[in-house]
Amino acid sequence: MADSKRFDNYINGQWVAGADYCTNINPSDLSDVIGEYAKADAAQVNAAIEAARAAFPAWSTSGIQARHDALDKVGSEILARREELGQLLAREEGKTLPEAIGEVTRAGNIFKFFAGECLRLSGDYLPSVRPGVNVEVTREALGVVGLITPWNFPIAIPAWKIAPALAYGNCVVIKPAELVPGCAWALADIISRAGFPAGVFNLVMGSGRVVGEVLVNSPKVDGISFTGSVGVGRQIAVNCVARQAKVQLEMGGKNPQIILDDADLKQAIELAVQSAFYSTGQRCTASSRLIVTAGIHDKFVAAMAERMQSIKVGHALKAGTDIGPVVSEAQLNQDLKYIDIGQSEGARLVSGGGLVTCDTEGYFLAPTLFADSEASMRISREEIFGPVANVVRVADYEAALAMANDTEFGLSAGIATTSLKYANHFKRHSQAGMVMVNLPTAGVDYHVPFGGRKGSSYGSREQGRYAQEFYTVVKTAYIGS
Ligand code: NAD
Repeated sequence: MADSKRFDNYINGQWVAGADYCTNINPSDLSDVIGEYAKADAAQVNAAIEAARAAFPAWSTSGIQARHDALDKVGSEILARREELGQLLAREEGKTLPEAIGEVTRAGNIFKFFAGECLRLSGDYLPSVRPGVNVEVTREALGVVGLITPWNFPIAIPAWKIAPALAYGNCVVIKPAELVPGCAWALADIISRAGFPAGVFNLVMGSGRVVGEVLVNSPKVDGISFTGSVGVGRQIAVNCVARQAKVQLEMGGKNPQIILDDADLKQAIELAVQSAFYSTGQRCTASSRLIVTAGIHDKFVAAMAERMQSIKVGHALKAGTDIGPVVSEAQLNQDLKYIDIGQSEGARLVSGGGLVTCDTEGYFLAPTLFADSEASMRISREEIFGPVANVVRVADYEAALAMANDTEFGLSAGIATTSLKYANHFKRHSQAGMVMVNLPTAGVDYHVPFGGRKGSSYGSREQGRYAQEFYTVVKTAYIGS
């Protein structure tokens, strides 16, 4: 590892050596070390929070042109370097190069979008019910925000938290996931050269137990925006509410994809394959429950089994790879455990189910499909977060809708149908935050709200103009004569 490079934390406008370092390894090739990334200790996290606090008064009242220009510059550099950053992303997370370049492009566009939002800040000016008095309703920055991100979108999720936070005048301390610090570091490097004053943006890498918990529990952090697992998110919410900090959580899913008898079979196969298996099934919006009505069920299962034979699993950077590796050994073990559970529960393995051998040593798993499964099985109810899906047969649309909604989660839900009646009914009666008609459950725009219901989310929406709900607080001013 003598040739691997060290990457430090960014605190108060300076690159600061970590209290320790962790090794970032390519899941497509375990002999490929991407670098040594700093791990902050509690003192460094507190220093970052102090720096953000000190920078907040000036930054929160700074001119919108300067904010716009800095965010726009970040967006431009990300877009100009999308191929190179895409390579880094594919190398550290394992999604394929085209998927990774797509994610980087999304991150660049998000910065451009929120650069524009700096210029569109608005409020209300209205008469009071008292004669001679007027009322102004304006939004002000929340304060210092702690941003905690997962490993599955190493650049897009940091971008969709950092960009609105800075646009609305907040100061940021971000903690990326330990498995993928490379993209967050590259983003911090770009931000460090974009013209933000020292302390406005800080990067502290390291573990959830140390860095995450200090951020969540610091009385000097006004809000936490978290994306990750349900267990961690719920504890963060409890801790934030106890000290009256604002909190926003985006968490897991068990997203249903309904396929009705009247669906276009070819389209249904493509969207099911795309949303169940692409990005190695490691998307919170992936559909792992395929709910199929009786008339099309057998044709659908047979066509899926055939289509899955042509899905190429391999090194994320190799041309022609459809699905890269699972992100880590721990995640691979979780996926394999659920494949065992599915078999022991009595579901029928239609395709996949085991490891794939490639030229390099990595965490390669065949996309896996179960049929003859029941809604009550654990594989139908629990988030697996890998390329594993199961088909459940239902009698008709009404049964499909009931089953789709019978989950503790509510992030994304899809229906494949040529019926306007069922599409409209599903749009209205699905209990998910995002509903897709004849589209994969995964794959969303960057300029509109993103988020779920029930156990999947808590607090206000992320992305688009709705992001201001979290990153601002409302002030009502009365003006007498
Ligand atoms: P995770 O909950 O293990 O970790 C998420 C982040 O929280 C990481 O940065 C981690 O270090 C940090 N963390 C861990 N323990 C902490 C603690 N005690 N205090 C503070 N921070 C702590 O999740 P993960 O494995 O990185 O990501 C996978 C999960 O994320 C899946 O459940 C997936 O559905 C979810 N996810 C949701 C969305 C969404 O928008 N709904 C998007 C992507 C991923």
